[in-house]
Amino acid sequence: LFISFEGLDGAGKTTQVQLLTDLLISSGHKVTVTREPGGTPLGDKIRTLLLDLANSEMCAETEALLYAAARAQHVAQVIAPALARGEIVITDRYTDSTVVYQGAARTLNKNQLEALNEFAVKGVMPDLTILLDAEVALLQSRLAGRGECDRIEQEDVKFHEAVRQGFLALAARHSRIKVVPALGEQSDVQAAIATVVRQFLKE
Ligand code: ATP
Ligand code: C5P
Ligand code: MG
Repeated sequence: LFISFEGLDGAGKTTQVQLLTDLLISSGHKVTVTREPGGTPLGDKIRTLLLDLANSEMCAETEALLYAAARAQHVAQVIAPALARGEIVITDRYTDSTVVYQGAARTLNKNQLEALNEFAVKGVMPDLTILLDAEVALLQSRLAGRGECDRIEQEDVKFHEAVRQGFLALAARHSRIKVVPALGEQSDVQAAIATVVRQFLKE
């Protein structure tokens, strides 16, 4: 079983990935948990290049190719082997982030981005995607003071609104994507995610 988490910066992906991992491990599952961009030593180097604010001259095409390069390595080295061992794989971001951030928000051609994703993952797609959705303003207030230089601080509200709408449009097109409101306490969000995953596992 391959599960991806998607959503805006600050939606709670990293928090909920950890909570779901703990839950699945406590019910006896073997879980590999990973993230993008990154997930491998090479991917982490690419992540540093991508998130380096000094690289503001990076053009959108270069950015898309670097995300795809990190992802190809991630699939080959981590995701496909773990799935072959029969483990549950949970990734914090995957292909949908590329379609949305590099497509909807940076306005690259979505068909080309989907072809690039396909080239990188060779059919290894999530069975289930949890899309954590919330209003941009809520997430900005959540992240204020986190002290990291995220896109949520770097880019304007219009960018994040395009990201949010891009994710919701993808969810309308793909039945694997389940929208979970990222509102309320962490435990409320966790309970909603657990319900979706249990239905999927038929547990
Ligand atoms: P990013 O895309 O930037 O990595 P993320 O989606 O992984 O963000 P988290 O890092 O999990 O989001 O959460 C962002 C911040 O919001 C953290 O400080 C976290 O503790 C807090 N947070 C997470 N979930 C909730 C919640 N339901 N209510 C309030 N705060 C939350
Ligand atoms: O989720 P995480 O905070 O680790 O992602 C790092 C940054 O990379 C975020 O600011 C996110 O918006 C950005 N990102 C992106 N395009 C992707 C994936 C992530 O711009 N395809
Ligand atoms: Mg995170």
